[in-house]
Amino acid sequence: ITVTALRETAAGERRVAITPEVARKLRARGLSVLLERGAGEAAGFPDEAYAETAFATAAEVLAQADVLACVLPPEDAVYAQLREGAVVFGQLRPYGAAARIEALNRRRLTAFALELLPRTTRAQAMDVLSSQAAVAGYRATLIAAEACPKFFPMLTTAAGTIRPSRVLVIGAGVAGLQAIATARRLGAQVEGYDVRPETREQVESLGAKFLDLGVSAAGSGGYARELSAEERAAQQQALADHLKVVDVVIGTAAVPGRPAPKILSAAMVEGMRPGALIVDLAAESGGNCELTRPGGGVSHGHVRILGPLNLPAGAPLHASEMYARNLFNFLELLLKDGHLQPDFADELVERTCLAHAGELRFKG
Ligand code: NAD
Repeated sequence: ITVTALRETAAGERRVAITPEVARKLRARGLSVLLERGAGEAAGFPDEAYAETAFATAAEVLAQADVLACVLPPEDAVYAQLREGAVVFGQLRPYGAAARIEALNRRRLTAFALELLPRTTRAQAMDVLSSQAAVAGYRATLIAAEACPKFFPMLTTAAGTIRPSRVLVIGAGVAGLQAIATARRLGAQVEGYDVRPETREQVESLGAKFLDLGVSAAGSGGYARELSAEERAAQQQALADHLKVVDVVIGTAAVPGRPAPKILSAAMVEGMRPGALIVDLAAESGGNCELTRPGGGVSHGHVRILGPLNLPAGAPLHASEMYARNLFNFLELLLKDGHLQPDFADELVERTCLAHAGELRFKG
């Protein structure tokens, strides 16, 4: 079995799906590894770092691939070059991609979108959403600290005492908790907010304060549900008052497969302090602030709003290391006696499969 990866082509993408460590582990499992030349270069893994791994052009790689590991969905032309029956897996962004999934199914490819893994204990080692969200949360706080006109920590100097910045992290999932932990390490005074009540303890265990706005909206599978119009209004009222004393907001609130909840209105932003900053990590799915411009920055009055995209690509070496391990662990599920044999009785295989043997399996 030949396991392959290409150099990622999405704008600004620097991660690679197979790292030198995972290439070694795949070989130890009796698999061949074939990579496009320069595949790991941007992540900090030049070809030489891969030791015995073979390299070729993209076309040669695809012609020989039994398995294609990807960070982001490949271009449509890639699917056309793969052999019938080849397996494609990684973050395939399945929501809203019906045409692409139908196209790869027509080519009789097998595809697994790892975003669809259930958030169970057994899936944790393959959970690409978690590993990459942790990187995103870390990066969001660093971007905020860099763009903030204030220091994050308290400083006591001969020129006087500087009070620590007040940082509010909205959404305390994997990314939010990492954003909180990073802001704490930088010495800010940090608060976390989420609609799932169990996050209170997680926020507090990081030494941050839980902001209670009196709205609780736990959904299924450990995720939040969308708020009703009344809940949303109550949340915004309470939050608007609180925002007046905050220096930095980091928005990470999300609902799977849906646009990000719009929590911060223009009027709420207008009530914030001059020099306040919003870093909207949720920009990827539209943003938590109605003013956010995904992929850009805007100033609204005296408040700056940043909507950075693809934050994990900003720490590509460690992001790739974690990601590639997730992929390796998932691939192990598909292997039986040295053959690729997806077992659809296994919930992890069943839930992630988009298409197999000419059958469309993703119901969107
Ligand atoms: P996510 O990216 O879907 O959402 C981020 C956060 O936004 C969530 O905490 C959510 O509750 C919150 N949110 C949604 N709407 C909101 C609103 N209107 N206002 C405020 N906050 C809002 O979440 P995620 O980081 O992918 O994590 C989802 C869940 O999965 C969490 O419970 C997490 O602990 C759990 N999880 C479990 C495992 C595991 O056991 N294997 C692994 C990873 C994550």
